[in-house]
Amino acid sequence: VGMQIDIVSVFPEYFDVLNLSLFGKAQSKGLVSVHAHNLRDWTHDVHHSVDDTPVGGGAGMVMKPEVWAECLDDLLGLEPQAITADSDTATAIETNTTDESGETDTADNTGDADETGETDTATQNSTLDGTLTDTPSEARRQTPARNLETVLIFPNPSAPLFTQRDATELSHAKRLVFGCGRYEGYDARIPAYYQAQGVDVREYSIGDYVLNGGEVAVSVMLEAITRLLPGFMGNPESIVEESYTGSEALLEHRQYTRPAVWRGMEVPDVLLSGDHGKVDRFRRDEALARTDAIRPDLIEQLDCALLSKADRKT
Ligand code: SAM
Repeated sequence: VGMQIDIVSVFPEYFDVLNLSLFGKAQSKGLVSVHAHNLRDWTHDVHHSVDDTPVGGGAGMVMKPEVWAECLDDLLGLEPQAITADSDTATAIETNTTDESGETDTADNTGDADETGETDTATQNSTLDGTLTDTPSEARRQTPARNLETVLIFPNPSAPLFTQRDATELSHAKRLVFGCGRYEGYDARIPAYYQAQGVDVREYSIGDYVLNGGEVAVSVMLEAITRLLPGFMGNPESIVEESYTGSEALLEHRQYTRPAVWRGMEVPDVLLSGDHGKVDRFRRDEALARTDAIRPDLIEQLDCALLSKADRKT
């Protein structure tokens, strides 16, 4: 079975477009199965309200934790718990929501044991006031590929930046559950609560700007993640040598196609030479020089041991 994807949003129709193009094909091939849920289906009031005024004052509205939790408990198969300040463990809240067998469901993702039998530590940690603290990006960069079970993801402009490394890591997950924020965002205790339940929770920003809602951000992350799934792309080679990819994560060299001269503009001679060694060297030099000029931060993060003598000259 393919990767299971659940998206929670107040505008689930936004994701109808996922039936198109490569993503639509991936669904029919069974590589991914996507369900977009309407958060308002978990409300009980006549207005189906999902937001309330910010505690402490201020403009706008904040998404309420209760309705999100009812939805996410359902999707993750979790029972409601109360988090106590003096204990790491949560205690079950007495409710009538236990299933008919009387058994308590445990999420399939808790424990998150990898093949070595060790328990993975999540890359983000939570505190009781709802702060999801991030492991420094250097440590995240070195996170080895591992088989993830369920990951709960909230787009958030004030979170660490989502990168190709995150996309690669998340492409190994069995199930992704995305929660789209709206208004001024969601109550900070929501991600922190699920982290405290042992769920692998991530908050990511897709860039230094503010969007109206998480739907676009989820679409961006979803596309970056799923195109890495084996069988997703028509030509698997096309994802091997790309910007931000591999241990070096450089920007890619520029691309050209025919004609060799277009409106007086020429393709660089070396690319027409047929000399593969020279073409590779030209492209490598261009990748290094462009990365240095456009994204010096990527050059700073580069492991110098990966550079050859010829690279260093560039
Ligand atoms: N008050 C928030 C702030 O200033 O950080 C902005 C909330 S924004 C208007 C509403 C929702 O859109 C957020 O909860 C998040 O889900 C989504 N969103 C907006 N910009 C985003 C970004 N750059 N990356 C990821 N998600 C974003």
